[in-house]
Amino acid sequence: SLFSKLQFFTTVNDLHSLPYNGLEVAFAGRSNAGKSSAINTLANHTRLAYVSKTPGRTQHINYFTLGDDRFLVDLPGYGYAQVPEAIREHWINLLSKYLQTRKQLVGLVILMDSRHPFKPLDRQMLDWFASTGRPVHVVLTKSDKLTRQQAAQTLASAKLELKHYPNHTCQLFSSLKKTGTEELDHVIQGWFNR
Ligand code: GDP
Repeated sequence: SLFSKLQFFTTVNDLHSLPYNGLEVAFAGRSNAGKSSAINTLANHTRLAYVSKTPGRTQHINYFTLGDDRFLVDLPGYGYAQVPEAIREHWINLLSKYLQTRKQLVGLVILMDSRHPFKPLDRQMLDWFASTGRPVHVVLTKSDKLTRQQAAQTLASAKLELKHYPNHTCQLFSSLKKTGTEELDHVIQGWFNR
């Protein structure tokens, strides 16, 4: 698997400190979407990306190396209400600039809770990144919380939502049941190998 060599690389707090080598894939999502759990599941490692019990506190960018100058970038979770306005603004600006200008970024994974996907800030991320023309993969998390029928419906409506965006794909995922890991691995591998 692409993620078998996943290792923590560095933490950065501003765009000037980003490492400049290699290619990267970013993981974005509302806080509590299940992003840390997904990274841990992909890496088959329980505490690699800390599963935060205080959402919104981890306001930094974590770089993980996949080997061969390829990186997984864990972006700060957005949408947590308890964050002071000034800090929220700072991080939204950072996300917007990063998504619109980062040359090394070959694709974006947006994780959304499958029970309430496509919140306004999720759409904002899609819009910012759409200007780059690069691919996006929407991961509908915690699919174990849905019945099979609900899951199928959720996936179908997500596909409809994404019809307006060229080369955007989506899938269901569960860290709890470890389902969807191969599909996600395959999509990201494809981006790196383009
Ligand atoms: P993050 O803020 O996006 O990094 O979200 P976390 O990974 O910390 O997860 C937020 C909460 O959702 C935690 O309580 C997790 O245990 C829970 N969670 C994450 N993934 C899953 C999943 O696949 N299934 C279920 N049932 N719960 C999950």
